[in-house]
Amino acid sequence: MLASGPVSIQTPASPERGDFIREIVAADLREGRVGAVVTRFPPEPNGYLHIGHAKSICLNFGIANEFGGHCNLRFDDTNPTKEEQEYIDAIQADVRWLGFDWGEHLYFASDYFEQLYEWAVHLVRTGRAYVDDLSADEIREYRGTLTEPGRESPWRSRSAEESLDLFERMRRGEFPNGARVLRARIDMASPNINMRDPVLYRIVHAAHPRTGDAWCVYPTYDFAHGQSDAIEGITHSICTLEFEVHRPLYDWLVDNLPVPSRPHQYEFARLNLTYTVLSKRILLRLVNEGHVHGWDDPRMPTISGLRRRGFPAEGIREFATLVGVSKADSVVEVGLLEHAVRDVLNRTAARRFAVLRPLKVVIENYPDGQVEEMDVVNNPEDPSAGSRKVPFTRELWIERDDFMEVPPAKFFRLAPGREVRLRSAYFVTCREVVKDADGQVVELRCTYDPATRGGDAPDGRRPKATLHWVSAVHAMPAEVRLYDHLFSRPDPGANGSDLFADLNPESEMVLTGCLIEPALAEVRVGDTVQFERLGYFSPDPDSTPEDPVFNRTLTLKDTWARLQAQGRQGT
Ligand code: ATP
Ligand code: MG
Repeated sequence: MLASGPVSIQTPASPERGDFIREIVAADLREGRVGAVVTRFPPEPNGYLHIGHAKSICLNFGIANEFGGHCNLRFDDTNPTKEEQEYIDAIQADVRWLGFDWGEHLYFASDYFEQLYEWAVHLVRTGRAYVDDLSADEIREYRGTLTEPGRESPWRSRSAEESLDLFERMRRGEFPNGARVLRARIDMASPNINMRDPVLYRIVHAAHPRTGDAWCVYPTYDFAHGQSDAIEGITHSICTLEFEVHRPLYDWLVDNLPVPSRPHQYEFARLNLTYTVLSKRILLRLVNEGHVHGWDDPRMPTISGLRRRGFPAEGIREFATLVGVSKADSVVEVGLLEHAVRDVLNRTAARRFAVLRPLKVVIENYPDGQVEEMDVVNNPEDPSAGSRKVPFTRELWIERDDFMEVPPAKFFRLAPGREVRLRSAYFVTCREVVKDADGQVVELRCTYDPATRGGDAPDGRRPKATLHWVSAVHAMPAEVRLYDHLFSRPDPGANGSDLFADLNPESEMVLTGCLIEPALAEVRVGDTVQFERLGYFSPDPDSTPEDPVFNRTLTLKDTWARLQAQGRQGT
């Protein structure tokens, strides 16, 4: 599955090779340009964090940890109409779950509102900012284009005194939303549109989750961000490439304000994933329009969704290392994320038996009422995980897919007259197929070979297939939710088509009446196990001991590994 479109698929960087940002940090330390490294992760609390943010979190916290500095968690909460406490709480929980700790370095841009306001006043006093009465539409019109210079606002020549008075009255709430803005006075003819007198403050009469009604003027991202970095003594302000064109403004502001430190901005390519959308605006629509059940729906690329799906934090961190950091935009195969997660789960997940679509097997020559405790290895990749006892009885459930009445050439599993191995139990042979009135197969009558206990025959014969099974007497019913990619195209919404038309109608399939081995009752939310031969599964928070619910984390098929084996992973 290769992505279409003009971008190439990123080949994973070698983790040993430091990236260009780590090289800059190392050189700054070596040459004494900075004393200790201070980075920050600056989410806007207007949504839940996603796997793209995880890349940024791993980069910022990772660099701080590796170079003996620290990383701040700073909420960039300057837009009260879109921000909520719910998001502030969820973001903290997600960063912690990913395995990172900001210690006492939790900050909010809103804590700097008074300081930022004073600095805005400073710019007005020094002739570097003015209050503009143009409307938002007019400002856009006057701004010009990439090929045409902008035009100066008629209010640009306003005196500092008049601007100061108006700015103060804006703060006091004398004007409605949009009536006036504060703009930097830089250069309307600059080839960089961001330097054509960017807006620094706008009037927004809205309560803020933290400052309440204290303010009705709010700083823009551009004005708040660099100055917050300077207040916190950030040495390396790392952001995604779309801010590269904002860097001259970032520098202009710190150069023209009496800020306590001189931070520098560095940009890297944001993460894009096939079959996935990483725009908070779209994710919010998916939630609000009911395309998914919530921000933590297991199909969402959010950290809370991936967690609910059963992805271990270690797998996400491993993925961040694999994709590396570069300055070139690219799209990463979602298969690489899945590969990193499988890699962790293969080492750590306990193996269990579960039958998703059950078919009854009766072993005619097995004593009725007898129960044997079969010893089954918990994880062949980890001898220290030991083994468990799984009850074996005369009546069992196997997977409906593991039987065919008329098997085609390459089907080696159970069929009339054929012998297969039941994992860690016995060889069984199908003697008779029982059907209901509609001709549906409802039961298989089998016999077993008592000499094959544990799964080996003394005469060395080897069945071509080994099936998983559960005892009909001991099995617990469960609901199992099968998940697939939320979008059916690798490039959702490409070619100008409606992105929502590309939603995969089969991304969630709920199976009830699945039957699971008793040991699965003990799996806790947050743990992921392997249902043998089926995939990795994790209990949903909806799960109760009486009504277990499991989410499929991933199937066992590793498309990334397959592509790599075929030498087709990159272009
Ligand atoms: P928006 O600004 O539209 O709300 P955002 O995804 O940029 O969306 P922020 O909360 O501003 O959200 O992002 C916090 C940090 O995470 C920023 O430094 C941003 O550059 C980084 N980030 C966001 N998306 C990605 C991504 N896909 N890959 C890497 N880093 C990302
Ligand atoms: Mg942003």
